[in-house]
Amino acid sequence: MHPITQELEQLQKDFSQEAQDIADMQAFDALRIKYMSKKGLVAEKFKVMATLSGEERPIIGKHLNQMKAFVQNRLDELRTSLSDAGEKSAKIDLTLPGNRPVIGRMHPLMKVLEEIKTIFREMGFSIETGPEVETDFYNFEALNIPADHPSRDMQDSFYLPGERVLRTHTSPVQIRTMQKVQPPVRMIAPGRCFRRDTPDATHSPMFQQIEGLVVDEGVSMADLKGVLLAAMRKLLGEHIQIRFRPSFFPFTEPSAEYDITCSSCFGSGCRVCKQTGWLEISGAGMVDPAVFGFVDYDAEKYTGYAFGMGLERIAMIKYNIDDLRIFYENDVRFLTQF
Ligand SMILES: [Zn+2]
Repeated sequence: MHPITQELEQLQKDFSQEAQDIADMQAFDALRIKYMSKKGLVAEKFKVMATLSGEERPIIGKHLNQMKAFVQNRLDELRTSLSDAGEKSAKIDLTLPGNRPVIGRMHPLMKVLEEIKTIFREMGFSIETGPEVETDFYNFEALNIPADHPSRDMQDSFYLPGERVLRTHTSPVQIRTMQKVQPPVRMIAPGRCFRRDTPDATHSPMFQQIEGLVVDEGVSMADLKGVLLAAMRKLLGEHIQIRFRPSFFPFTEPSAEYDITCSSCFGSGCRVCKQTGWLEISGAGMVDPAVFGFVDYDAEKYTGYAFGMGLERIAMIKYNIDDLRIFYENDVRFLTQF
């Protein structure tokens, strides 16, 4: 055996030994230069080729190439593992503050709606819903709204093909519920409504309403006022008073507009309530017996009351907001205040 064979084995052993102790790129470079540079230990061994006979040359040449490949492979492995470790330690900086996950929250309108639902549920009301696309019958006719009533005007309602209309109030839900069940009825109907209004601080073509209906024997206007007062006090505070002003609606008789104590000045008069001490809320009244005719209720036996309230209006009062459009702009800076 040519002595070079043993030398090559020794070189591989030495190299492997040294490679084991390499812990950083600096030491790696030193090792690489020591063995694989032009004048390194590997190149040094190749010099033996010039001294070999024609028979020895292919055999020793093969050994030399195997040794060189061994060193190169091991260096490649080492480089990969060192640069991986480097990247990892650069990526994970344990001293950085953590990312706090953003926690979602309920939209202020939904929050007020949930409160209103809870208040009425506790007073024995059921929560009813109905379609947003209605027929003329449910949105107008069954509510005693005659064909020449201004609310039927094309200027006021969104009409759809097939004599359908986007409901202009949640009152159709009352009709649908009364068709399904016999008295006693004690329900609220929250939901989206649509009217051809130009958006401004207090109007929106889409708004949310909550309407209430109670039908039973011996139901009176005093019950109506008592329920509204209790609900408004729970919602906005014990200081709230309520007042009725005579009004007219096709589906109630008698009808009233109801106001509550101004929550900005507690009734003493301020800019918000235009010095009256009162804030207008919505309409209410005793169900017109003509409406009972549409749902086959005995108007001799039963009486009922109905009331409405605008969700945006209530939320504006509760949170002291003067422009309802802000509820629908989805500005997170506004929404996270609640
Ligand atoms: Zn006021």
